[in-house]
Amino acid sequence: MDRRADAGDTSPLDLDRLAQTRLTRRRLLGAAAAAGALAACGAGGVDGRSRTGATTRSISARTPRLSDDPFTLGVASGDPLDDGVVLWTRLAPEPVVPGGGMPPDDVKVAWEVLDDERRRVVASGRARARSDQAHSVHVDVRGLDADRPYRYRFMTGDFETPLARTRTAPAPRSRGRLCMGHVSCQMFDHGYYHAYADIAADEDLDLVVHCGDYIYERAYGGSVRPDPLPDAVTVDDYRARYALMRSDADLRAAHARCPWLTTWDDHEVDDNYQGSAPSAESSTPDPSAFATRRAAAYRAWWEHMPVRVDPPDGPALRIHHRVGWGRLAELMVLDTRQYRSDQVCATGALDIGPRCDAAFSDDFTMLGARQERWLDRRLARADAAWTVLLQGVPVLQWRFAPGNSVWNLDGWDGYPVARDRLLGSLRTSTAPNPVVLTGDVHSSWVGSLVEDFDDPASPSIGTEHIGPGVTSPASPAVRGVLPAVLDQGPHIRWAEAEHRGWVRHEVTSDEWRTEYRFVDDATLPTSAVRTATRWVTPTGGVVTEA
Ligand code: FE
Ligand code: CA
Repeated sequence: MDRRADAGDTSPLDLDRLAQTRLTRRRLLGAAAAAGALAACGAGGVDGRSRTGATTRSISARTPRLSDDPFTLGVASGDPLDDGVVLWTRLAPEPVVPGGGMPPDDVKVAWEVLDDERRRVVASGRARARSDQAHSVHVDVRGLDADRPYRYRFMTGDFETPLARTRTAPAPRSRGRLCMGHVSCQMFDHGYYHAYADIAADEDLDLVVHCGDYIYERAYGGSVRPDPLPDAVTVDDYRARYALMRSDADLRAAHARCPWLTTWDDHEVDDNYQGSAPSAESSTPDPSAFATRRAAAYRAWWEHMPVRVDPPDGPALRIHHRVGWGRLAELMVLDTRQYRSDQVCATGALDIGPRCDAAFSDDFTMLGARQERWLDRRLARADAAWTVLLQGVPVLQWRFAPGNSVWNLDGWDGYPVARDRLLGSLRTSTAPNPVVLTGDVHSSWVGSLVEDFDDPASPSIGTEHIGPGVTSPASPAVRGVLPAVLDQGPHIRWAEAEHRGWVRHEVTSDEWRTEYRFVDDATLPTSAVRTATRWVTPTGGVVTEA
């Protein structure tokens, strides 16, 4: 994607002005007339359809006189289709306070999608920012052309957002290319988002995938940046946590660079929770209090993510889904938290220990029966060059010691029979070239997924790339055991636990190239980001250092 120098350009630096952009009334009316939107008094895409799919329901919302910019949280896009994409924003002049500084009414928001080259409006409409959804807006734009870059913006009252970038996926039978950023784990108080500045400046990125820990439910003792917020329990607490993250201009700029695919891990709710069970250290150990808390956390996640997911209605929220990228990649976004079995093998606060009998029962699950069946159906149909699983926790075995004395029970290592089923499905299905992208462990790992992790001769089923934290540091335990795990993992090619950063994947129908982009020092306000190592997996082959 070219960066252009005309007035409509939105460089990462310009995005710093997201919180300050004002628009004259004349300019707004001009834009609205061009879009044929606001002039049409009460008719239009309330739920954000494109011009071709506009509904005719009237909007009961009004446009209040906001004296402060409501677009402080920026904009985002996600879940691209070959003819559409989800556009997101949330109105909140004071995002960290309950209510976001908004009046208690629904509010009309206009949106526009522009042709990237000629900057003409190609789709527009109005959405309703509902006060019971924290004035968030999810517009599912359709009717766009396949495999094309677009720009978009939102407008309300006297305010509009700068143009942000997005794109559509390639058409189902087309070859396409894919350049993808891969991130996870972004403790606010432990570092600066230099990884996101690097992503925002990367003009070739088509997609960013987030493998979870977008927020942390509480501060974790970092001293780099202040995190003054309480341990999140209520929906307002969780909303404030997303607002804290998006107070960072580099994160907002990364969202404005390209569409994202997003899944969650534990910290979007509570450290090491398992399905409907809080961990032993939870501040909400009572199961019913935890259920209420989880529902609040899922609601706030939905309100802040550019996802094609129906609004939460009750305690569960289905987020697993697939995104097709032409004949190049079948991207499966998995949920490795919501449906997993309670990790009964863990004792007390420890999620490190021996596997107990329960871990070997057939119904001890990581994905849940329904998601497993869904995945198996998708795998049976997958025929793109690459089959990609985006998910939370390491699949690669980490053997700390011989025998059954100690495992990372929070990862797939704690769910060995469920992992055997997953790897069995990947091996026996016709799904080509599996690649698993993972977060969670704040360290970088490259390895082959094999049937028997203790057998050096076991053939490769696929590749796993585990990314470093954007800012979350590796625990001393992970740093300490890394040499032993490498030593006892013939399937693991490389690991590193000292640096924060992100992973960049360039995918063609012949090979999957990966570079690990490390931040020199995430605790400093300025720091370089550089490629530490490069890896390549040819189709039909095994990952090797490039
Ligand atoms: Fe994390
Ligand atoms: Ca985690």
